[in-house]
Amino acid sequence: MQPSMFNVRAPIDGSADVFLMNTFSDAQIIVSPDVVDLIDRIAAEGAPRTEEERSTLDLLTEHGFLVDSREHERQTLEQYFRDVREDSETLKVTVLTTLQCKFACGYCIQGDHGDYNKHAAKMSLENAARVAEWTERRLDALNPSRLILTFFGGEPLLNLPVMYLLAERLHAACEARGVTLAISIITNGLLLTRDVVERLNPLGLSGIKITLDGDRDTHNRMRPLRGGQGTFDRIVANVRQVASLTKIAIGGNFDVDTVDSYPALLDFLSEQDFADKLSRVTFKPVIRETQISGKGIIPLTAVGSEGKPLNGACMTSAGTGVSSACDSCNVVDEKMAFLREETKRHGFKTVDGVHMGPCEIHKSHAHTIGPDGALYACPGFAGEPRQSIGHIDGRDDAFRTQALRNFERLSAWKACQDCAFIPVCAGGCTVAAHNELGDMHAPNCHKSSFEAGVLTLARDAAREYAAMA
Ligand code: SF4
Ligand code: SF4
Repeated sequence: MQPSMFNVRAPIDGSADVFLMNTFSDAQIIVSPDVVDLIDRIAAEGAPRTEEERSTLDLLTEHGFLVDSREHERQTLEQYFRDVREDSETLKVTVLTTLQCKFACGYCIQGDHGDYNKHAAKMSLENAARVAEWTERRLDALNPSRLILTFFGGEPLLNLPVMYLLAERLHAACEARGVTLAISIITNGLLLTRDVVERLNPLGLSGIKITLDGDRDTHNRMRPLRGGQGTFDRIVANVRQVASLTKIAIGGNFDVDTVDSYPALLDFLSEQDFADKLSRVTFKPVIRETQISGKGIIPLTAVGSEGKPLNGACMTSAGTGVSSACDSCNVVDEKMAFLREETKRHGFKTVDGVHMGPCEIHKSHAHTIGPDGALYACPGFAGEPRQSIGHIDGRDDAFRTQALRNFERLSAWKACQDCAFIPVCAGGCTVAAHNELGDMHAPNCHKSSFEAGVLTLARDAAREYAAMA
């Protein structure tokens, strides 16, 4: 008998007790120090000394804290990743309706800067119909119980006809097949109206994610329109219009200069009449090109490397992606813990910093589709045509076949040896590894972020325990 390699521990403030979590089984318990000693001792001694110890060990085994052998546990982990890859319960399709965007975010060199929008791709209605047909074929081949359809961009609301066509076609397709459809939109919020929500609600709209990059002044500085006009007031007014009609999640990007404006944003949000309607508030660091990274910034997708435009998905799609198409990542460690605590203190739900992955890049049945019908392994790669892994028309391009093979063998976690966070991290964000390290197969590690998340879970568990006592 061995302690599981996925056990993590955190002290409980003001107590000798210890918070124990197993990241594989997701069991979480608070135990006395003698139980911790028993776990440490059992590897050496192999057998319990007393009946009481035996029943404690049975309980710990039942919850995954003790395993027969590390070798067997490793095999179980490998099977888990195979199961994640092949899981057919959910088909996930993210559609980039357009790469156009009216914003001129300072941290992004696409959007409405210069003549970007003149050249940015936009999905045609013909292509949207092909995407619907392709998705219907996937539904028939896979027979999932759920389809998650996400609209993203650029700014997806700049192409409403395509959004409506896809929502209507796939709603009908799901109804005919007994599949549950969940539609979500990731938008800057500027063009969000009651009409949009009322039209999509009967088709299966499950929620909308909107970006606010700090308090009013900070957001207006970070996410202005091309003419420099602020966007905060209009977005908030739009949220107010629709908050009672659908779930609204707020996400934001921060850097070292803006992070301190978040408590003011949280104050503002908690005072709004729609505060109790917000389903979640989350934040992540601004994605910047590597050259300008500094303390407190984790550089992720290179939005401006060598002066080249990203030419693809909104930068909020990638990397440590908690306000984006991607909800899977970890972030700037100590600031994220601070924001998490502040967000909860203001009464909003947020991510816990531990339950992250494996993200959709590890899943065969999660697809991102660009405006031209090109398929990508995740939204973070949609800006790189050479990383396309296929096309909805089934065309046979050698570079796509090669890219697909490359993505299929992703397993950066195998280099993470016996890290306890592998089941919830899987080696980190592949997009970030690709951009920062130049190797998508290398782990992109922010372990201290997970460790901070465990401390938060320990605090929460101790509070609940105290309330029950
Ligand atoms: S690799 Fe994973 S975590 Fe990174 S952007 Fe893609 S889906 Fe998100
Ligand atoms: S990337 Fe870091 S935290 Fe993630 S599994 Fe690997 S070693 Fe652990």
